[in-house]
Amino acid sequence: MSSTLDDVLEAFAAQQAAPRPTPRVCASGLVADTIAFSSVDGPGNRFVVFLQGCNFDCVACHNPQTIPGQAATVDGHQPHRTSVDDLLVHIRRAAPFISGVTVSGGEATQQAGFVHTLCEAIKANPALHRLTCFVDTNGSCPTTVWDELEHVVDGVMVDLKCLDDDIHRELTGRSNEATLTSIRHLAGQGRLYEVRLLLVAGWNDDAALIERTARWLACVDPAMPVKVIGFRSHGARPHDPPLQEPTREALERAADIVRSVANLDVCVV
Ligand code: SF4
Repeated sequence: MSSTLDDVLEAFAAQQAAPRPTPRVCASGLVADTIAFSSVDGPGNRFVVFLQGCNFDCVACHNPQTIPGQAATVDGHQPHRTSVDDLLVHIRRAAPFISGVTVSGGEATQQAGFVHTLCEAIKANPALHRLTCFVDTNGSCPTTVWDELEHVVDGVMVDLKCLDDDIHRELTGRSNEATLTSIRHLAGQGRLYEVRLLLVAGWNDDAALIERTARWLACVDPAMPVKVIGFRSHGARPHDPPLQEPTREALERAADIVRSVANLDVCVV
């Protein structure tokens, strides 16, 4: 589980030497929703595309309607097959007021070909090419996906639900192995915008665990931006026993632990 500087440098060298995969082309994708303006999905004001479908099943998910089989849990939720051209029309309308586009989910990388085609189209469009393209991900995809996206995606935000794999499996239904590999890989590419720690009271907010997480992150990148986010029950599915929201004080304490251990760039939302 632990990673040394030598491991990181070795992984970076291997990634530079590896042949680049051919990007897939996919002119349409299954879209759950879009938001024309968001200030919480990456830097600045952003157009956000939420893709339908996720390979995790997180107990604390705020968009459970994007999980396969859960669409009916939210009234009126109707994913649409949407073309890149249609999205560009909406993005062009918002363009004067935004700094970029974020593809979120669900899990964006489940439709990596569509993400690539959309971002490539934005970069190639004279009216849009100044916009940055970001991806919000659970990090579960193979590293070849990040290699495919490397030339069209400017930054990636990765959710790390828990460094402890057993707790991660309880929280998400899946191992964190691919997520940790993605974090290392993206840091090596210089495309890791931030790591997000979503804290659920009593599950992943133990002080020793946060300290271990901070040490691991700092080992990957001592200047890594980290966002500590508190679970909010609004929009989440019911759980037995009910999941608890951490207090503001608990979140600040967690951020202080991260700062004290590793002097990482931490903020709390
Ligand atoms: S990875 Fe995100 S979208 Fe997928 S189930 Fe977890 S919280 Fe929900």
